Amino acid sequence: MLTAGMDVGGTNFRVGVFDGCDIVWEKRFEADFSRLCSTRSALEAESAIVATMASALSEACHEYPEIRAIGIGFPGFIDPETMRVASSPNLPGLVDVDFAKPLSSRFHVPVIVENDALSAAYGEQVFSEWKSLIYVGLGTGVGGGLILEKKPYQGSHGVAMEIGHIIVEPGGRKCGCGNSGCLERYASASGVTLSYHEREGKTLSSKEIAILAQKGDASALQSFDLAGSMLGFALSHILKVVDVTDVVIGGGLSESWGLLEKSFGKRLESDLIPVLRGKCVVRVSDSKDKAGMLGAARLAGNQI
Ligand SMILES: [Zn+2]
Repeated sequence: MLTAGMDVGGTNFRVGVFDGCDIVWEKRFEADFSRLCSTRSALEAESAIVATMASALSEACHEYPEIRAIGIGFPGFIDPETMRVASSPNLPGLVDVDFAKPLSSRFHVPVIVENDALSAAYGEQVFSEWKSLIYVGLGTGVGGGLILEKKPYQGSHGVAMEIGHIIVEPGGRKCGCGNSGCLERYASASGVTLSYHEREGKTLSSKEIAILAQKGDASALQSFDLAGSMLGFALSHILKVVDVTDVVIGGGLSESWGLLEKSFGKRLESDLIPVLRGKCVVRVSDSKDKAGMLGAARLAGNQI
């Protein structure tokens, strides 16, 4: 059975067509939905996002008309009952949006919408066959997904594992969720950019800062150290609540894991309770960033 999965990110999204776990078609589309939502009315942004998604999915469905279900991994709080996007800290203005219905009407197949990080977590589980795992997506923000006994855990309100909004620095940097000091203001690509800006007064991308860090630039190294330490702090507490062995790190910033790893490991080990020290296996995803698409596609396929 062929299924399609979409992974929506901050500045682009990708669509994959899967035959089981095997990807048979993949394409990346540039689309800055964050900017769209900041510059247009909510209604305009909503219809523009639907039109952009539909256009991309048309390409996939044209190539593979036998696609039977479509899954969308979307960065936001998804109501587990209705699959509507309740809101999205990184896409301001979107409130209670139904993306599934217009796309399902257009393509005449079941369409599901799930949180992007939970979709990626499910994709990692399908790839790995681990029964339970935590997925941490380090992208523009920080997302989290929990799989318990092979099942995605959404929580009663669809916000389980919104780890990017754990407050790691009370009164700290303002966050799109409305609070201050959230993890994703420190341990994401944008968090690293902010840390470097605080030190040097210059706005560089996390990739540019990573290059400087590799050359030994002190401010760049400190920006990554802070990101790793904050992530270790948050994860040490998450693991005390949700005692699983496997943690998978994905997302664009995971490419710079070598720069985060040391401060992360040090903080994680010091803040874990002794009984858990040395027992959690943290690894960088080897799915080549396809887990989000695969997870969304498989969740959609499960509906049939
Ligand atoms: Zn927040």
